[in-house]
Amino acid sequence: MSASLTTTFDDKNTETSNLINPTLVLNCGSSSIKYALISEDNSIRITGLAENLGLDTARIKHTTLNGDKLEISISGGRHQLALQKILELLEQYHFIAVGHRVVHGGREYSAAVRVDEHVLDEVKRLKILAPLHNPAHALGIEAVQAIYPDIPQVVVFDTAFHQTMPPVAFRYPLPKALYEEHKIRRYGFHGTSHAYVSERASEITESKGPHGWLTAHLGNGCSATAVYDGKSFDTSMGLTPLEGLMMGTRSGDVDPSLHIHLKRQLGMSLEEIDAMLNNESGLLGVSGLSNDLRTVEQAANEGHADAKLAIEMFCYRVGKYLASLSCALPEFTGIVFTGGIGENSVTTRTSILEVMRHFGIKVDADKNASLFGGSEGSFHADNSSIELWVVPTDEECRIAQETREALGLL
Ligand code: AMP
Repeated sequence: MSASLTTTFDDKNTETSNLINPTLVLNCGSSSIKYALISEDNSIRITGLAENLGLDTARIKHTTLNGDKLEISISGGRHQLALQKILELLEQYHFIAVGHRVVHGGREYSAAVRVDEHVLDEVKRLKILAPLHNPAHALGIEAVQAIYPDIPQVVVFDTAFHQTMPPVAFRYPLPKALYEEHKIRRYGFHGTSHAYVSERASEITESKGPHGWLTAHLGNGCSATAVYDGKSFDTSMGLTPLEGLMMGTRSGDVDPSLHIHLKRQLGMSLEEIDAMLNNESGLLGVSGLSNDLRTVEQAANEGHADAKLAIEMFCYRVGKYLASLSCALPEFTGIVFTGGIGENSVTTRTSILEVMRHFGIKVDADKNASLFGGSEGSFHADNSSIELWVVPTDEECRIAQETREALGLL
């Protein structure tokens, strides 16, 4: 594949057809691959999703530069085949680098890094800390290597942004040897999202820095981070992405003795308990209906008691966590909401802030009600003690940016 290029396409909209020096961003999961081809100035992108990998229904949903939608069946296809097709679809745009989202980087990586043999081995080895994610990321890296051995690849770790946490925040109160010999500590996740929205909030606020933000990434996965002067000081997720807030299907914090109790009382195996906490808990577990907040909200509005409780618990736990994370900030500038729920659910934002009722936070209800569907803006009243922002997250943009930085292309 050729190096740096400006490519003009036979495209209906020539205004948007200059996809200059694009970076391909890949997020390889265990049964899906999300991808985005992003121009050098982040203004243009082509996106898609390969899903149901390994099943008869495996397919690629691709959105072209024109916005046309294609669906390509790759029945039974796994990562290698899906990536081969994706790369065929994108080959004409001459991407110059590939950036991979990688969930776990352990404690070795505090920034994005170019892939070499050692890095790939580390991604594989960290399967012990992210068994569902890291093996799929490694497959993605190897598949690109096999097809385009000369394209530089970079890994951008979800954990890297949180490497600035001090020991007081990242250590567990456990025997020292578990940390020193077995790397048992808090790592934190959703790093690219927390980094992106906190940086964006610092750009758009009128207040002078350094800024202290609490970023609330509320989607199907949920986490909150205390970011001061662009650095993560503490975060809600820990050794794994299960710790912290209540999520779509994940419990978040529970009593650490729950495992032994369930084992003794119900004869459940550790694997069964782990699956229950990860896949059958959270909004889904409490409501008994769905992990999707929209479904749970609709049921709550129709009087479903468990759905109502699930939402109350979700908001209470987010508010309680944000209040405690504020202790990590030398100064508290404001809260930034993001993720599918944070960006769209006006009532959830209101309920979370009501939980923090001793903080002097004042919401401008009209501004809050106007922020959904991808809009960005503030919604604090003039007399509020802190600022309130909605910033739609853009992890792909951040990964493309970090990929270019790691390769010295900026
Ligand atoms: P994400 O994982 O960031 O895509 O977020 C998914 C979550 O966002 C799901 O729980 C959705 O129900 C929720 N969500 C998306 N749009 C809305 C909306 N308009 N109102 C409430 N929740 C929403």
